[in-house]
Amino acid sequence: IMSSPLTFQPVLQRIAEEIAAAPDRGRPADYIPALAVCDPHRFGMAVAELDGTVYGVGDWRKPFSTQSITKVFTLALDLAREGDELWEHVGREPSGNPFNSLVQLEYENGIPRNPFINAGALVVTDRLHTRTGDAARTLLDFLRAESGNEQLAINKDVAASEATRGDRNAALGHFMASYGNIENPVPVLLDQYFHQCSIEASCADLALATGFLARHGIRSDGTRLLTQSQAKQVNAIMLTCGTYDAAGDFAYRVGLPGKSGVGGGIIAVVPGRCTLCVWSPGLDERGNSVAGVTALDRFTTLTGVSVF
Ligand code: GLU
Repeated sequence: IMSSPLTFQPVLQRIAEEIAAAPDRGRPADYIPALAVCDPHRFGMAVAELDGTVYGVGDWRKPFSTQSITKVFTLALDLAREGDELWEHVGREPSGNPFNSLVQLEYENGIPRNPFINAGALVVTDRLHTRTGDAARTLLDFLRAESGNEQLAINKDVAASEATRGDRNAALGHFMASYGNIENPVPVLLDQYFHQCSIEASCADLALATGFLARHGIRSDGTRLLTQSQAKQVNAIMLTCGTYDAAGDFAYRVGLPGKSGVGGGIIAVVPGRCTLCVWSPGLDERGNSVAGVTALDRFTTLTGVSVF
């Protein structure tokens, strides 16, 4: 165990070699063509320290579709603006249901279980949109500032594809609107949400952008986005709800707050220490990157760095 490595580079190198030798990669998401064509053998991993030093291996500078990883950032951006009132509109319990499930909404009066299933993320984006006038733009500006990468952009083709396959998200939006839990017209909200999901960023970009959660709420420029308590809360929700209905297994294997997306990326936080982002497009049946979860498991195992 390397409990205080001077640099994370050797451990990343070792993990990349192990991953390259592992045959099972899962399958890329196929609900939109833009994701289905991704090569499951791609693999990248980055670690960012609190001061912005980044280590990386493999495809760590290659942009990929961030998808549900963005739900962490919209949650933080909205929480920073409206505080605890948000919790009257979305819960904080793991769902145990797939990310796009409708059933629970009916027996809990249109209040989604947590901000990381699609229903909950739609509520958060809706409320951020009301408070900023442009949720996707606010998110993109934040990611650019924190990553220091002005090139970050929305992939318009992916956004258009999301819209053509958007019936279930539309159903979630309309259903919650029928309970009065959506503030904007549902088509406006869906447009914002699909653009949010379609932002492309690399492991390096996302590891840096997640840094405020390891710095207890402090942004890269030293200003505060979240209170220390709010940063703790977001990390806790990532641990319990961040990896679809496999959050228990992820906590067991990796031992870190994390959030995955169907593009094959996963971000993870070691509060007070560092942030990670791993990407490999092949997914398991729950929607988490196969090589990504393995790589994070190996990182915490080899370094001894985790929250436990
Ligand atoms: N755009 C996807 C959807 O809402 C995001 C899914 C995900 O990454 O979990 O269907």
